[in-house]
Amino acid sequence: MSTENNAPVVSNFIRNIIDEDLASGKHASIVTRFPPEPNGYLHVGHAKSICLNFGLADDYQGKCNLRMDDTNPEKESDEYVQSIKDSVSWLGFKWDGEVRYASDYFQPLYDYAVELIKAGKAFVCDLNAEEMRAYRGSLTEPGKNSPYRDRSIEENLDLFTRMKNGEFPDGSKTLRLKIDMSSGNVNMRDPVIYRIRRAHHHRTGDTWCIYPMYDYTHCISDAIEGITHSLCTLEFEDHRPLYDWVLDNISIGCHPRQYEFSRLELLYALTSKRKLQALVNDGLVTGWDDPRMPTIAGMRRRGFSPAGIRLFAQRIGVSRGENIIDMSVLEGAVRETLEAEAPRVMAVLDPIKVTLTNFEEGVTASRAAPFHPHHPEFGEREVPISREIYIERDDFAEVPPPKWQRLTAGGEVRLRYSYVIKCDEVIKDATGRVVELKCSIDHDTLGQNPVGRKVKGVIHWLSCEHAIEAQVRLYDRLFTEPRPDAVRGEDGEYVDFRQFLNPHSLATVTACVEDVVLKAEPETRYQFERLGYFVTDRYEHQPGVKAVFNRTVGLKDSWAK
Ligand code: ATP
Ligand code: MG
Repeated sequence: MSTENNAPVVSNFIRNIIDEDLASGKHASIVTRFPPEPNGYLHVGHAKSICLNFGLADDYQGKCNLRMDDTNPEKESDEYVQSIKDSVSWLGFKWDGEVRYASDYFQPLYDYAVELIKAGKAFVCDLNAEEMRAYRGSLTEPGKNSPYRDRSIEENLDLFTRMKNGEFPDGSKTLRLKIDMSSGNVNMRDPVIYRIRRAHHHRTGDTWCIYPMYDYTHCISDAIEGITHSLCTLEFEDHRPLYDWVLDNISIGCHPRQYEFSRLELLYALTSKRKLQALVNDGLVTGWDDPRMPTIAGMRRRGFSPAGIRLFAQRIGVSRGENIIDMSVLEGAVRETLEAEAPRVMAVLDPIKVTLTNFEEGVTASRAAPFHPHHPEFGEREVPISREIYIERDDFAEVPPPKWQRLTAGGEVRLRYSYVIKCDEVIKDATGRVVELKCSIDHDTLGQNPVGRKVKGVIHWLSCEHAIEAQVRLYDRLFTEPRPDAVRGEDGEYVDFRQFLNPHSLATVTACVEDVVLKAEPETRYQFERLGYFVTDRYEHQPGVKAVFNRTVGLKDSWAK
């Protein structure tokens, strides 16, 4: 899939490892997986991981599983499962077979736990959370053995069975691995692998009241699925010894290898489901798919194309080095893919009326214009002219700045696909605001240059009687700070990222657009000439009834300093 944008496949350390594993015969083909927890909508960071895992499977003719890592019943839901499936498919990827769920493996996970107990490698512990913390030690000090560590195998088996059967209250007991309380790696200090939690699970309902922990679940799920390369972000590096320990100590016969890469951090955005959830819960955005959200659903609604996001993922690369990326890189990739695929139309976002005083029915003519300058197959449409037209307010300046090439009092400009006009009169209201221009057409300039002079500027415009009205939503950065969740106050504590919301992140205007767009289906992308890329809203645009657009991105990077 990643080769689809004609961009060469960029190698990375993971591809090198795969190349070696295939060359040495360690694996005949690869199996990767993308394992989100269904506790929110996926964001742009997940897009990186999706493009990596599914992209590798595509490039190496392997397989990639989509696995819901659903071991925290309180936070997970079917809504999130559905949104995750939608996001992966929309990005253009196909998972192998059915969607998998860690919860499908609750029984084998339980059976392996029993196996570990029987081997004397796991024990039931009665320490509560606070005691457990005290016994754990710190980064500099070793931990202490739990007083319950030496329970007999029989007692552990009995207690674990009774934990499963619901005989003990929530949080009163855990099952822990017996590894090493003095390990320098805190993750290896007898980690908890099961806890008692009476919570309704979105798939298993009330069947279980004990739930396995992430570290224990993840490696076994990978092994059950025959994953060859288990790719995750760097914060799991210290968990790798535990991943390996579990697989080395059960009779599973498959040992995937874990490799870590750095998380994407996108400036002016947040890449944490929990923080994005806070924006949704507080009503600071309209939902997970608000076009300002860095979620995949939000980017989709904003008009970003799957190809643009895939190109972005390819450009940011995969490594173990810091991956802090400016929003302009994402927008640039999106812009590049839209350039070739979006038909052009004209729209006026902030109109001034222009009366063409010498417009003459039957004499003043219209021309057809192509929908795309380089794609004749996109077709063309008539761009009708009439006595009254709209132009963009900022394409007129009574007192023009130096090098002005647009319209000014007494000056000339070309209307895109139409005549050269001259501004003869400026009409203002009592406050001095320009409300109308009276202009004259040079009737000898349709499809040809004026004689004896040069007119450089070309502006977009619309015939008042032919244009339709559209609601257009102009989006800007959601935050005013590049790293809204990394700002510290005077006390050294993190400042709440909600303080850095950009109050101007959304402006809604009533614009005029060519009437063809009214027929467009939702999620149709256009370039509004000279203004940027816009998409018909996925939900609110109603073909034939009501045009609603979201601005995807401007034509140039307006954030470059
Ligand atoms: P969050 O904090 O947003 O919930 P997470 O890592 O807890 O992120 P998961 O649902 O567990 O979210 O992630 C699924 C996969 O996506 C994991 O393999 C994870 O490493 C990867 N992933 C998550 N965030 C990023 C990111 N910012 N960049 C790259 N990969 C990411
Ligand atoms: Mg997580």
